[in-house]
Amino acid sequence: MNRTDRIGRTRYGIALAIGLLMLSTFIASATAVPDVPHSPAPPQHDSLKCEIHHVGLVEENMHIAYGLPAFNEQAMAAMRVQDSLFPHAVPYLLGGCVIDENSPKSRIIHYCPICRVARDAWLKGYEAGAHPEEDR
Ligand SMILES: [Zn+2]
Repeated sequence: MNRTDRIGRTRYGIALAIGLLMLSTFIASATAVPDVPHSPAPPQHDSLKCEIHHVGLVEENMHIAYGLPAFNEQAMAAMRVQDSLFPHAVPYLLGGCVIDENSPKSRIIHYCPICRVARDAWLKGYEAGAHPEEDR
């Protein structure tokens, strides 16, 4: 094995470890608050790249919103298409209905900047009635 192979394998190992850490964090949070809709969590991936737009995901310390969210029709429609059109937009982070002094106020997330632009454009198109009924 040459040096380039070792570096490549090390990078793959680090990316895999980060992916598994993110997955375990998602599973832990998903099981903690089973009775409310959850934040769109990044799908499982082997590296921190958007599989749709092929750009690296950006880290952000995102505020966690608690309580029962009031999703309107537009937000519900966006949730139905997000996995195929903008899976890493991560526009918000929900912490569930129960909050106490130990509840975290924020969490590190990774988002795709192009997914966010795509989501904003999709929402504007939805408002304008641009999307066919099967998208809704
Ligand atoms: Zn993307």
